[in-house]
Amino acid sequence: MGNSSLVAYTKISPNKTSPRNHVIDTITIHCVVGQVTAETLGQIFAPASRQAASNYGVDRDGRIGMYVEEKDRSWCTSSSTNDNRAITIEVASDTTHPYTVTDKAYAALVDLVTDICKRNGIKKLMWQADKSLIGQVNKQNMTVHRWFANKACPGDYLFERYGAIADEVNRRLGAVLDETPAPIDILYRVQVGAFSKKENAEVMLAKVKTAGFPAFITKA
Ligand SMILES: [Zn+2]
Repeated sequence: MGNSSLVAYTKISPNKTSPRNHVIDTITIHCVVGQVTAETLGQIFAPASRQAASNYGVDRDGRIGMYVEEKDRSWCTSSSTNDNRAITIEVASDTTHPYTVTDKAYAALVDLVTDICKRNGIKKLMWQADKSLIGQVNKQNMTVHRWFANKACPGDYLFERYGAIADEVNRRLGAVLDETPAPIDILYRVQVGAFSKKENAEVMLAKVKTAGFPAFITKA
């Protein structure tokens, strides 16, 4: 497990449950609703009275902060079940719809998610934008805060990019992007002989046909 080596600033928050009770198999991205620095986000999550924190934060300049270690459950997504299995990431954003994030923040977010997947054995990110698939991580292993609480989070800017984030992370992970491969048709042939002279093959063919089996000659 461990933590990301991409972290530039650490300020551990008391707003967590230690340790988490589930393996990490889900990614949940949030919007901060503020173009903050990693240090400011640390200050926001520092008081116990806040009752909230994320594992990581990506700031407006693309710097990454850590507020809850990966081994611990962050109090972030209004769902104990989700946060016990997810790495939660707050991304600095505008304060109004669609809660746009900077290009630097977006690039750092993709780097961070790739790193998290690599270290935690998440071989492929899957996003269907389908709330009914919560918990079915073999079909969808990304979630959004708006599914668990009456919130806009992660904002439409990031929500609409969830698929693109998954695609880019998967490209970097070298994941197989195709869906279930088509089944391979296998034919089992019965062979009764292989001959270098055609005459000998024709003799055998005649014997097989005489015995009542449909047969023919193929060239190899
Ligand atoms: Zn959120």
